[in-house]
Amino acid sequence: MENQNNNTGITHVLVIPYIAQGHVIPLLELAQCLIVHGTKVTFVNTEVNHKLVTKTWLERGSFGPLMHMVSIPDGMEPWEDRNDFVRSCEAMHQVMPGKLEELIETINKTDDDKISCVIADAGMPWAIHVAEKLRIQRVMFWSAPAAAFSALLSLQKLINDGIIDNEGVPLHQNTFQLSPTMPSMRSTEFGWTCMGSVPTIKALFQFALIAVEAAKAAQWLLCNSTIALESATFNLFPNLVAIGPLLASNRLAKQAGHFWNEDMTCLEWLDQQPACSVVYVAFGSFTIFNQTQFQELALGLELTNRPFLWVVRPGLTKETCDMYPDGYMDRIGTRGKIVSWAPQQAVLAHPSIACFLSHCGWNSTLEGVSRGVPFLCWPYFADQLLNRTYICDVWMNGLGFEKDENGVIGRHEIMGKIDQLINNREFKTRALDLKEKVADSIREDGPSCKNFKRFVKWTQEKDGDGENVTKIQLGL
Ligand code: UDP
Repeated sequence: MENQNNNTGITHVLVIPYIAQGHVIPLLELAQCLIVHGTKVTFVNTEVNHKLVTKTWLERGSFGPLMHMVSIPDGMEPWEDRNDFVRSCEAMHQVMPGKLEELIETINKTDDDKISCVIADAGMPWAIHVAEKLRIQRVMFWSAPAAAFSALLSLQKLINDGIIDNEGVPLHQNTFQLSPTMPSMRSTEFGWTCMGSVPTIKALFQFALIAVEAAKAAQWLLCNSTIALESATFNLFPNLVAIGPLLASNRLAKQAGHFWNEDMTCLEWLDQQPACSVVYVAFGSFTIFNQTQFQELALGLELTNRPFLWVVRPGLTKETCDMYPDGYMDRIGTRGKIVSWAPQQAVLAHPSIACFLSHCGWNSTLEGVSRGVPFLCWPYFADQLLNRTYICDVWMNGLGFEKDENGVIGRHEIMGKIDQLINNREFKTRALDLKEKVADSIREDGPSCKNFKRFVKWTQEKDGDGENVTKIQLGL
Protein backbone atom coordinates (compact mmCIF):
# COMPACT_ATOMS: atom_id res chain seq x y z
CA MET A 1 0.00 0.00 0.00
CA GLU A 2 1.29 3.47 -0.79
CA ASN A 3 1.72 6.02 1.92
CA GLN A 4 -1.37 8.18 1.46
CA ASN A 5 0.06 11.13 3.38
CA ASN A 6 3.02 11.42 1.17
CA ASN A 7 3.30 13.25 -2.13
CA THR A 8 6.73 12.27 -3.41
CA GLY A 9 7.12 8.84 -1.93
CA ILE A 10 9.70 9.87 0.68
CA THR A 11 8.41 9.08 4.16
CA HIS A 12 8.66 12.08 6.48
CA VAL A 13 8.82 11.38 10.22
CA LEU A 14 8.83 13.91 13.04
CA VAL A 15 10.94 12.95 16.07
CA ILE A 16 10.59 14.75 19.40
CA PRO A 17 12.86 13.93 22.35
CA TYR A 18 12.34 14.76 26.02
CA ILE A 19 14.52 17.72 27.06
CA ALA A 20 17.34 15.76 28.76
CA GLN A 21 20.73 14.85 27.27
CA GLY A 22 20.12 11.12 27.73
CA HIS A 23 16.99 11.39 25.56
CA VAL A 24 18.28 13.68 22.82
CA ILE A 25 21.31 11.47 22.02
CA PRO A 26 19.44 8.16 21.43
CA LEU A 27 16.57 9.82 19.56
CA LEU A 28 18.99 11.64 17.30
CA GLU A 29 20.59 8.27 16.66
CA LEU A 30 17.18 6.78 15.85
CA ALA A 31 16.60 9.72 13.47
CA GLN A 32 19.86 9.02 11.70
CA CYS A 33 19.03 5.31 11.39
CA LEU A 34 15.75 6.33 9.72
CA ILE A 35 17.67 8.59 7.34
CA VAL A 36 19.90 5.65 6.40
CA HIS A 37 16.67 3.95 5.28
CA GLY A 38 15.76 6.93 3.08
CA THR A 39 13.34 8.55 5.53
CA LYS A 40 13.19 12.32 5.90
CA VAL A 41 13.26 13.47 9.53
CA THR A 42 12.15 16.67 11.20
CA PHE A 43 13.85 16.63 14.60
CA VAL A 44 12.16 18.91 17.13
CA ASN A 45 14.13 20.19 20.08
CA THR A 46 13.11 22.88 22.50
CA GLU A 47 14.68 26.23 21.62
CA VAL A 48 17.18 25.94 24.48
CA ASN A 49 18.36 22.46 23.45
CA HIS A 50 18.31 23.27 19.74
CA LYS A 51 20.95 25.94 20.33
CA LEU A 52 23.13 23.56 22.31
CA VAL A 53 22.85 20.61 19.93
CA THR A 54 23.36 22.52 16.69
CA LYS A 55 26.29 24.45 18.18
CA THR A 56 28.23 21.35 19.21
CA TRP A 57 27.54 19.44 15.99
CA LEU A 58 27.39 21.94 13.15
CA GLU A 59 30.97 22.92 13.88
CA ARG A 60 31.86 19.51 12.44
CA GLY A 61 29.44 19.34 9.54
CA SER A 62 25.73 19.07 8.97
CA PHE A 63 23.33 16.18 9.40
CA GLY A 64 22.68 15.95 5.66
CA PRO A 65 19.72 16.96 3.48
CA LEU A 66 17.19 14.49 4.91
CA MET A 67 17.50 15.91 8.44
CA HIS A 68 15.72 19.08 9.47
CA MET A 69 16.60 20.32 12.93
CA VAL A 70 13.89 22.68 14.18
CA SER A 71 12.77 24.04 17.53
CA ILE A 72 9.68 25.09 19.43
CA PRO A 73 9.50 26.94 22.77
CA ASP A 74 9.21 24.89 25.97
CA GLY A 75 6.90 27.36 27.71
CA MET A 76 9.48 28.40 30.31
CA GLU A 77 11.30 31.67 30.83
CA PRO A 78 15.02 31.58 29.97
CA TRP A 79 16.08 31.76 33.63
CA GLU A 80 13.76 29.01 34.90
CA ASP A 81 15.23 25.72 36.13
CA ARG A 82 14.62 23.07 33.49
CA ASN A 83 15.70 20.37 35.95
CA ASP A 84 12.62 21.16 38.04
CA PHE A 85 10.58 18.27 36.67
CA VAL A 86 7.16 19.38 37.89
CA ARG A 87 7.53 22.93 36.61
CA SER A 88 9.00 21.91 33.27
CA CYS A 89 6.40 19.19 32.67
CA GLU A 90 3.59 21.64 33.46
CA ALA A 91 5.02 24.32 31.18
CA MET A 92 5.66 21.91 28.33
CA HIS A 93 2.18 20.37 28.55
CA GLN A 94 0.63 23.82 28.38
CA VAL A 95 2.57 25.31 25.50
CA MET A 96 4.15 22.63 23.36
CA PRO A 97 1.10 20.73 22.00
CA GLY A 98 -0.20 23.89 20.27
CA LYS A 99 3.26 24.75 18.95
CA LEU A 100 3.82 21.24 17.64
CA GLU A 101 0.46 21.17 15.90
CA GLU A 102 1.21 24.51 14.24
CA LEU A 103 4.64 23.25 13.17
CA ILE A 104 3.24 20.08 11.57
CA GLU A 105 0.48 22.01 9.80
CA THR A 106 2.94 24.58 8.46
CA ILE A 107 5.32 21.89 7.19
CA ASN A 108 2.51 19.89 5.67
CA LYS A 109 1.25 22.95 3.78
CA THR A 110 4.63 23.71 2.24
CA ASP A 111 6.69 20.52 2.11
CA ASP A 112 6.09 18.07 -0.73
CA ASP A 113 6.85 15.26 1.71
CA LYS A 114 4.20 15.62 4.36
CA ILE A 115 4.88 14.45 7.89
CA SER A 116 3.08 11.13 8.21
CA CYS A 117 4.41 9.86 11.53
CA VAL A 118 5.34 11.29 14.94
CA ILE A 119 7.86 9.47 17.14
CA ALA A 120 7.50 10.97 20.61
CA ASP A 121 9.64 10.33 23.64
CA ALA A 122 7.54 8.95 26.51
CA GLY A 123 8.48 12.17 28.35
CA MET A 124 6.56 14.13 25.68
CA PRO A 125 3.31 12.09 25.78
CA TRP A 126 1.12 14.98 24.58
CA ALA A 127 2.83 14.71 21.17
CA ILE A 128 1.10 11.36 20.66
CA HIS A 129 -2.27 13.07 21.05
CA VAL A 130 -1.28 15.84 18.64
CA ALA A 131 -0.51 13.12 16.05
CA GLU A 132 -3.80 11.40 16.84
CA LYS A 133 -5.69 14.66 16.35
CA LEU A 134 -3.95 15.23 12.99
CA ARG A 135 -4.64 11.60 12.02
CA ILE A 136 -1.03 10.66 11.46
CA GLN A 137 0.95 7.68 12.72
CA ARG A 138 2.02 7.83 16.34
CA VAL A 139 4.88 6.03 18.00
CA MET A 140 6.21 6.20 21.55
CA PHE A 141 9.92 5.88 22.28
CA TRP A 142 11.24 4.71 25.65
CA SER A 143 14.84 5.64 26.41
CA ALA A 144 15.31 3.71 29.68
CA PRO A 145 15.27 -0.06 30.35
CA ALA A 146 12.15 -1.84 29.14
CA ALA A 147 11.67 -3.18 32.67
CA ALA A 148 11.07 0.38 33.90
CA PHE A 149 8.51 0.90 31.10
CA SER A 150 6.78 -2.34 32.04
CA ALA A 151 6.37 -1.09 35.62
CA LEU A 152 4.82 2.13 34.32
CA LEU A 153 2.46 0.09 32.16
CA SER A 154 1.46 -2.01 35.18
CA LEU A 155 0.27 0.77 37.47
CA GLN A 156 -3.03 -0.91 38.27
CA LYS A 157 -1.21 -4.08 39.34
CA LEU A 158 1.15 -2.02 41.51
CA ILE A 159 -1.86 -0.40 43.16
CA ASN A 160 -3.71 -3.73 43.54
CA ASP A 161 -0.62 -5.38 45.05
CA GLY A 162 -0.21 -2.60 47.63
CA ILE A 163 3.09 -1.38 46.23
CA ILE A 164 1.87 2.20 45.60
CA ASP A 165 -1.34 3.96 46.54
CA ASN A 166 -3.68 5.32 43.91
CA GLU A 167 -1.87 8.67 43.92
CA GLY A 168 1.43 6.94 43.10
CA VAL A 169 2.95 7.21 46.60
CA PRO A 170 5.08 4.17 47.63
CA LEU A 171 3.51 2.09 50.39
CA HIS A 172 6.70 0.25 51.37
CA GLN A 173 10.43 0.04 50.64
CA ASN A 174 10.52 -3.72 49.90
CA THR A 175 11.61 -5.09 46.57
CA PHE A 176 9.09 -6.68 44.22
CA GLN A 177 9.18 -8.43 40.84
CA LEU A 178 6.62 -8.16 38.06
CA SER A 179 7.44 -11.80 37.28
CA PRO A 180 9.88 -14.28 38.85
CA THR A 181 12.31 -13.82 35.95
CA MET A 182 12.27 -10.02 35.94
CA PRO A 183 14.72 -7.92 37.96
CA SER A 184 13.80 -6.78 41.48
CA MET A 185 12.51 -3.23 41.74
CA ARG A 186 11.47 -0.90 44.52
CA SER A 187 8.51 1.47 44.43
CA THR A 188 10.79 4.22 45.76
CA GLU A 189 12.89 3.97 42.60
CA PHE A 190 10.27 4.82 39.95
CA GLY A 191 10.68 7.92 37.82
CA TRP A 192 7.92 9.71 39.72
CA THR A 193 8.72 8.46 43.24
CA CYS A 194 12.43 9.24 43.48
CA MET A 195 12.15 13.03 43.41
CA GLY A 196 11.50 13.72 47.07
CA SER A 197 8.41 15.03 48.78
CA VAL A 198 4.94 13.48 48.65
CA PRO A 199 3.38 16.50 46.83
CA THR A 200 6.09 16.17 44.14
CA ILE A 201 5.45 12.42 43.84
CA LYS A 202 1.72 13.04 43.45
CA ALA A 203 2.28 15.76 40.86
CA LEU A 204 4.70 13.65 38.84
CA PHE A 205 2.38 10.64 39.08
CA GLN A 206 -0.22 12.65 37.17
CA PHE A 207 2.32 12.98 34.33
CA ALA A 208 3.03 9.24 34.58
CA LEU A 209 -0.71 8.60 34.09
CA ILE A 210 -0.69 10.89 31.06
CA ALA A 211 2.24 8.91 29.63
CA VAL A 212 0.34 5.64 30.11
CA GLU A 213 -2.71 7.06 28.32
CA ALA A 214 -0.49 8.20 25.46
CA ALA A 215 1.14 4.75 25.31
CA LYS A 216 -2.35 3.29 24.83
CA ALA A 217 -2.95 5.67 21.93
CA ALA A 218 0.43 4.91 20.34
CA GLN A 219 0.70 2.34 17.56
CA TRP A 220 4.23 1.24 18.40
CA LEU A 221 6.15 1.27 21.67
CA LEU A 222 9.83 1.35 20.72
CA CYS A 223 12.47 0.59 23.35
CA ASN A 224 16.16 1.42 23.21
CA SER A 225 17.00 -2.04 24.51
CA THR A 226 17.47 -5.57 23.31
CA ILE A 227 16.12 -9.02 24.03
CA ALA A 228 19.71 -10.03 24.83
CA LEU A 229 19.62 -7.76 27.88
CA GLU A 230 15.98 -7.90 28.97
CA SER A 231 14.46 -11.11 27.64
CA ALA A 232 12.09 -11.59 30.61
CA THR A 233 10.53 -8.16 30.12
CA PHE A 234 10.14 -8.52 26.36
CA ASN A 235 8.58 -11.97 26.80
CA LEU A 236 6.10 -10.70 29.34
CA PHE A 237 5.30 -7.48 27.44
CA PRO A 238 5.21 -8.48 23.77
CA ASN A 239 4.00 -5.01 22.72
CA LEU A 240 7.31 -3.48 23.71
CA VAL A 241 9.53 -3.53 20.64
CA ALA A 242 13.29 -3.71 21.16
CA ILE A 243 15.29 -1.80 18.56
CA GLY A 244 18.46 -1.10 20.55
CA PRO A 245 21.02 -0.45 21.50
CA LEU A 246 20.92 2.67 19.33
CA LEU A 247 24.57 3.64 19.17
CA ALA A 248 26.34 5.74 16.54
CA SER A 249 29.13 3.14 16.49
CA ASN A 250 26.65 0.63 14.97
CA ARG A 251 26.74 2.85 11.87
CA LEU A 252 30.48 3.48 12.24
CA ALA A 253 29.52 7.10 12.92
CA LYS A 254 30.17 9.64 15.67
CA GLN A 255 27.75 10.14 18.53
CA ALA A 256 25.79 13.40 18.05
CA GLY A 257 23.42 15.52 20.11
CA HIS A 258 25.80 16.68 22.84
CA PHE A 259 24.86 19.69 24.96
CA TRP A 260 28.53 20.34 25.79
CA ASN A 261 31.64 20.29 23.63
CA GLU A 262 33.51 17.00 23.81
CA ASP A 263 37.13 17.32 24.87
CA MET A 264 38.89 15.21 22.24
CA THR A 265 42.30 15.52 23.92
CA CYS A 266 41.31 12.67 26.20
CA LEU A 267 41.53 10.27 23.23
CA GLU A 268 45.19 11.23 22.69
CA TRP A 269 45.80 10.78 26.42
CA LEU A 270 44.15 7.33 26.26
CA ASP A 271 46.52 6.42 23.42
CA GLN A 272 49.44 6.89 25.85
CA GLN A 273 48.05 4.47 28.46
CA PRO A 274 48.64 0.70 28.66
CA ALA A 275 45.88 -1.62 27.43
CA CYS A 276 43.07 -2.28 29.92
CA SER A 277 44.51 0.06 32.55
CA VAL A 278 42.29 3.17 32.74
CA VAL A 279 39.36 3.75 35.09
CA TYR A 280 36.79 5.86 33.20
CA VAL A 281 34.62 7.90 35.56
CA ALA A 282 31.48 9.70 34.34
CA PHE A 283 28.11 10.51 35.87
CA GLY A 284 26.03 11.60 32.90
CA SER A 285 24.32 14.93 32.54
CA PHE A 286 22.30 15.40 35.76
CA THR A 287 24.15 14.09 38.78
CA ILE A 288 25.32 16.63 41.37
CA PHE A 289 27.90 15.88 44.09
CA ASN A 290 28.23 17.46 47.48
CA GLN A 291 31.73 18.61 48.31
CA THR A 292 32.52 15.79 50.79
CA GLN A 293 31.53 13.09 48.31
CA PHE A 294 33.36 14.78 45.46
CA GLN A 295 36.58 14.90 47.48
CA GLU A 296 36.26 11.26 48.61
CA LEU A 297 35.92 10.25 44.97
CA ALA A 298 38.98 12.33 44.05
CA LEU A 299 40.99 10.73 46.85
CA GLY A 300 39.73 7.22 46.04
CA LEU A 301 40.91 7.62 42.45
CA GLU A 302 44.25 8.88 43.72
CA LEU A 303 44.62 5.87 46.05
CA THR A 304 44.19 3.37 43.22
CA ASN A 305 47.51 4.37 41.67
CA ARG A 306 45.90 3.61 38.33
CA PRO A 307 45.41 5.98 35.39
CA PHE A 308 41.95 7.50 35.33
CA LEU A 309 39.87 9.64 32.99
CA TRP A 310 37.29 11.61 34.94
CA VAL A 311 34.46 13.73 33.50
CA VAL A 312 33.86 16.69 35.79
CA ARG A 313 30.93 18.27 34.01
CA PRO A 314 30.17 21.97 34.55
CA GLY A 315 27.81 21.96 37.55
CA LEU A 316 28.85 18.51 38.84
CA THR A 317 29.49 20.20 42.18
CA LYS A 318 28.09 23.47 43.46
CA GLU A 319 31.65 24.67 44.22
CA THR A 320 33.24 26.75 41.53
CA CYS A 321 36.75 26.87 43.03
CA ASP A 322 38.73 24.74 45.50
CA MET A 323 36.77 21.68 44.44
CA TYR A 324 39.73 19.33 44.63
CA PRO A 325 41.66 18.33 47.77
CA ASP A 326 44.78 20.44 48.51
CA GLY A 327 47.63 19.76 46.10
CA TYR A 328 45.53 17.18 44.23
CA MET A 329 46.40 18.19 40.68
CA ASP A 330 50.12 18.20 41.42
CA ARG A 331 50.01 14.76 43.00
CA ILE A 332 47.93 13.30 40.17
CA GLY A 333 50.07 14.81 37.42
CA THR A 334 49.48 13.12 34.08
CA ARG A 335 48.18 9.89 35.68
CA GLY A 336 44.73 11.46 35.87
CA LYS A 337 43.01 13.22 32.98
CA ILE A 338 40.06 15.42 33.92
CA VAL A 339 37.73 16.76 31.21
CA SER A 340 34.44 18.64 31.32
CA TRP A 341 32.71 16.40 28.72
CA ALA A 342 34.10 13.35 26.92
CA PRO A 343 33.32 11.70 23.59
CA GLN A 344 31.96 8.86 25.73
CA GLN A 345 31.21 6.24 23.09
CA ALA A 346 34.71 6.66 21.63
CA VAL A 347 36.25 6.54 25.11
CA LEU A 348 34.49 3.29 25.99
CA ALA A 349 35.68 1.76 22.72
CA HIS A 350 39.31 2.58 23.49
CA PRO A 351 41.52 -0.45 24.28
CA SER A 352 43.12 1.25 27.28
CA ILE A 353 39.84 1.35 29.23
CA ALA A 354 39.70 -1.18 32.10
CA CYS A 355 36.36 -0.31 33.72
CA PHE A 356 33.59 2.27 33.84
CA LEU A 357 32.75 3.94 37.15
CA SER A 358 29.27 5.12 36.22
CA HIS A 359 26.03 6.56 37.55
CA CYS A 360 24.38 3.81 35.47
CA GLY A 361 22.22 6.00 33.26
CA TRP A 362 20.65 3.72 30.67
CA ASN A 363 22.65 5.16 27.77
CA SER A 364 25.91 4.83 29.68
CA THR A 365 24.91 1.29 30.61
CA LEU A 366 24.19 0.35 26.98
CA GLU A 367 27.39 2.04 25.82
CA GLY A 368 29.60 0.21 28.36
CA VAL A 369 27.87 -3.14 27.82
CA SER A 370 28.23 -2.83 24.04
CA ARG A 371 31.98 -2.39 24.47
CA GLY A 372 32.46 -5.24 26.96
CA VAL A 373 33.53 -2.87 29.74
CA PRO A 374 32.89 -3.98 33.36
CA PHE A 375 31.10 -1.49 35.65
CA LEU A 376 31.44 0.08 39.05
CA CYS A 377 27.93 1.23 39.87
CA TRP A 378 27.21 4.53 41.57
CA PRO A 379 23.51 5.14 40.83
CA TYR A 380 21.56 8.15 42.09
CA PHE A 381 17.94 7.85 41.17
CA ALA A 382 15.14 6.43 39.00
CA ASP A 383 16.13 3.72 36.53
CA GLN A 384 19.83 4.08 37.45
CA LEU A 385 19.04 1.90 40.50
CA LEU A 386 17.35 -0.72 38.35
CA ASN A 387 20.32 -0.62 35.97
CA ARG A 388 22.63 -1.31 38.89
CA THR A 389 20.48 -4.36 39.72
CA TYR A 390 20.86 -5.55 36.13
CA ILE A 391 24.65 -5.05 36.25
CA CYS A 392 25.36 -6.46 39.72
CA ASP A 393 22.69 -9.17 40.06
CA VAL A 394 21.48 -10.19 36.59
CA TRP A 395 24.34 -9.74 34.10
CA MET A 396 27.02 -9.80 36.83
CA ASN A 397 29.40 -7.61 34.83
CA GLY A 398 30.06 -5.17 37.65
CA LEU A 399 30.12 -4.27 41.32
CA GLY A 400 28.27 -1.68 43.41
CA PHE A 401 29.61 0.58 46.15
CA GLU A 402 28.52 0.56 49.80
CA LYS A 403 27.89 3.84 51.62
CA ASP A 404 29.33 4.40 55.11
CA GLU A 405 27.27 5.31 58.19
CA ASN A 406 27.18 8.95 57.01
CA GLY A 407 25.79 8.01 53.62
CA VAL A 408 29.13 8.68 51.90
CA ILE A 409 31.02 6.34 49.58
CA GLY A 410 34.49 6.57 51.11
CA ARG A 411 37.88 6.69 49.38
CA HIS A 412 38.90 3.20 50.64
CA GLU A 413 35.62 1.67 49.45
CA ILE A 414 36.23 3.27 46.03
CA MET A 415 39.81 2.06 45.78
CA GLY A 416 38.92 -1.42 47.12
CA LYS A 417 36.07 -2.00 44.66
CA ILE A 418 38.12 -0.77 41.69
CA ASP A 419 40.89 -3.21 42.62
CA GLN A 420 38.42 -6.05 43.20
CA LEU A 421 36.78 -5.51 39.82
CA ILE A 422 39.99 -5.23 37.84
CA ASN A 423 41.75 -8.11 39.61
CA ASN A 424 38.88 -10.56 39.15
CA ARG A 425 38.94 -11.67 35.51
CA GLU A 426 35.40 -13.06 35.73
CA PHE A 427 33.84 -9.60 35.46
CA LYS A 428 35.65 -8.92 32.21
CA THR A 429 34.79 -12.39 30.88
CA ARG A 430 31.08 -11.85 31.57
CA ALA A 431 31.25 -8.33 30.13
CA LEU A 432 32.77 -9.66 26.90
CA ASP A 433 30.18 -12.43 26.72
CA LEU A 434 27.37 -9.88 27.08
CA LYS A 435 28.99 -7.66 24.45
CA GLU A 436 28.79 -10.54 21.95
CA LYS A 437 25.12 -11.21 22.73
CA VAL A 438 24.24 -7.55 22.32
CA ALA A 439 26.24 -7.33 19.08
CA ASP A 440 24.23 -10.31 17.76
CA SER A 441 20.97 -8.43 18.26
CA ILE A 442 21.97 -5.58 16.00
CA ARG A 443 23.45 -7.71 13.23
CA GLU A 444 21.55 -7.84 9.92
CA ASP A 445 19.44 -10.84 11.01
CA GLY A 446 19.43 -9.99 14.74
CA PRO A 447 16.15 -9.30 16.58
CA SER A 448 16.66 -5.55 17.14
CA CYS A 449 17.65 -5.03 13.51
CA LYS A 450 14.66 -7.05 12.26
CA ASN A 451 12.30 -5.10 14.52
CA PHE A 452 13.69 -1.82 13.26
CA LYS A 453 13.27 -2.82 9.62
CA ARG A 454 9.71 -4.01 10.33
CA PHE A 455 9.04 -0.63 11.91
CA VAL A 456 10.52 1.34 9.00
CA LYS A 457 8.42 -0.69 6.57
CA TRP A 458 5.31 0.14 8.59
CA THR A 459 6.07 3.88 8.46
CA GLN A 460 6.34 3.56 4.70
CA GLU A 461 3.26 1.42 4.10
CA LYS A 462 0.53 2.17 6.57
CA ASP A 463 -1.93 4.94 5.92
CA GLY A 464 -1.64 7.87 8.27
CA ASP A 465 -4.30 6.99 10.75
CA GLY A 466 -3.17 3.37 11.02
CA GLU A 467 -6.80 2.27 11.16
CA ASN A 468 -5.99 -1.38 10.72
CA VAL A 469 -3.62 -1.48 13.64
CA THR A 470 -4.91 -3.51 16.57
CA LYS A 471 -5.18 -1.49 19.79
CA ILE A 472 -2.14 -2.08 21.96
CA GLN A 473 -2.92 -4.15 25.04
CA LEU A 474 -0.84 -2.78 27.86
CA GLY A 475 0.26 -3.87 31.26
CA LEU A 476 -0.29 -6.93 33.40
N1 UDP B 1 28.03 11.49 27.71
C1 UDP B 1 29.02 11.97 26.91
N2 UDP B 1 30.13 12.50 27.49
C2 UDP B 1 30.29 12.55 28.84
C3 UDP B 1 29.26 12.03 29.65
C4 UDP B 1 28.14 11.51 29.05
O1 UDP B 1 28.94 11.93 25.68
O2 UDP B 1 31.31 13.04 29.29
C5 UDP B 1 26.82 10.94 27.05
C6 UDP B 1 26.78 9.45 27.21
O3 UDP B 1 27.50 8.84 26.17
C7 UDP B 1 25.30 9.16 27.18
C8 UDP B 1 24.65 10.44 27.70
O4 UDP B 1 25.67 11.44 27.68
O5 UDP B 1 24.89 8.92 25.85
C9 UDP B 1 24.18 10.33 29.14
O6 UDP B 1 23.05 9.54 29.17
P1 UDP B 1 22.76 8.57 30.39
O7 UDP B 1 21.46 7.90 30.12
O8 UDP B 1 23.90 7.67 30.61
O9 UDP B 1 22.70 9.51 31.65
P2 UDP B 1 21.85 10.84 32.02
O10 UDP B 1 22.65 11.98 31.56
O11 UDP B 1 20.52 10.72 31.32
O12 UDP B 1 21.76 10.77 33.50
